[in-house]
Amino acid sequence: MARKIGSRYTAHQILGRGSAGTVWLGEGPDGPVAVKLLREDLASDQELVGRFVQERTALLSLDHARVVGVRDLVVDGNDLALVMDLVRGTDLRTRLDRERRMAPEAAVAIAADVADALAAAHAAGIVHRDVKPENVLLDMEGPLGPGGAHPALLTDFGIAKLIDTPRRTRATKIIGTPDYLAPEIIEGLPPRAAVDIYALATVLYELLAGFTPFGGGHPGAILRRHVTETVVPLPGIPDELWQLLIQCLAKAPASRLRASELAARLRELGPLLAGMAPLDVDDPDEGEDADADPATEPSRPAGPEPAGSAAPRRGAVSLVPGAAPADSNRDTHTSMRVPAPDELAGGARGTARAPRAAGAPRPGSARNRHPARRRRITLGVAGLALAVALGGGIWAATSSGNGEHPPADENNSAPAAP
Ligand code: ADP
Ligand code: MG
Repeated sequence: MARKIGSRYTAHQILGRGSAGTVWLGEGPDGPVAVKLLREDLASDQELVGRFVQERTALLSLDHARVVGVRDLVVDGNDLALVMDLVRGTDLRTRLDRERRMAPEAAVAIAADVADALAAAHAAGIVHRDVKPENVLLDMEGPLGPGGAHPALLTDFGIAKLIDTPRRTRATKIIGTPDYLAPEIIEGLPPRAAVDIYALATVLYELLAGFTPFGGGHPGAILRRHVTETVVPLPGIPDELWQLLIQCLAKAPASRLRASELAARLRELGPLLAGMAPLDVDDPDEGEDADADPATEPSRPAGPEPAGSAAPRRGAVSLVPGAAPADSNRDTHTSMRVPAPDELAGGARGTARAPRAAGAPRPGSARNRHPARRRRITLGVAGLALAVALGGGIWAATSSGNGEHPPADENNSAPAAP
């Protein structure tokens, strides 16, 4: 069932569904394309459509081998569609779900590709703001690179910013996916280029470990960890790689590397990692939580979760307790909200990232159902402060960006395209 999109494109079949809309395999005057049809409620938002059109030039101008190019923007009746380069392959989340952990050489090659994409964007004054495995597409038709990694391309540039309007944020209390949020965003600073570096380092850690450094459990707890906790080293990780990771996960944005430096350093590391097997790291969903307090955490027998209580996977934490995200793979700015103070008060520790002793108690959903009372009190206060900071921060960040790109980086910015 073909569907006309504007006068130039035809959509043929659905490639995938995301939180912002549906992606179709389409045909245009220059051959096959991918067409992202935005959700109806987004497409009917006049303010949003206006900003899409304003951003058109910038979105269309980002032309780089590691960026999924936006070719056209179609506003047609009730349809708002983004016409993109077609990538034949899969997204990084799908690959990660399949492999759980990647060999360091392949992980580093993918991260280097994404760092290249970010370097191009930052030089053009564009901050991505939503770097996560779902937004990295692997081109299966491209040549195999180091460690058997297909070329990686970054997609969804500028979309987070467009959708994150002050009004929408207030109405739906939207925030980003918490696992990849840089601490300065949580503290209310406007998102600059360094937030993308933090998010990319989080993705690289996840590719190596199988889980994100601060994810797991209640969203309020995840936000707090970003701001206050240090990353626990991964067993067996080569020191050079670890140093690079912690530098880019620094709490202070100025301490992180720039995208181009990060890409170069990652590529230098490649040969050192050749042939290395995936790290042998305990999966926090199985071995469980070193800093769990056995006195306050109910233990449960090992084995599969009882039906209906599966703990949300890392990177797809439901912000409403008990609610499964509509599509748990696709939590983005459009499906998240700031937790209410009482939800934050019930915060559970999902993860401490030290390797766990065998037989240590597991937290997961059992813990979420029985949050420790002791923590309830302290988190209540911290959570409230965070919610206030977050709300204020996102509003400030988005209200300052009416159609203009925030400077990507003080030392690395070029004027945004007019
Ligand atoms: P959203 O960001 O709105 O949540 P995505 O951009 O992740 O949605 O798109 C959903 C799915 O569509 C992806 O997982 C991917 O499989 C497919 N897809 C997205 N963009 C492309 C593209 N340019 N080429 C091929 N497939 C794509
Ligand atoms: Mg996406």
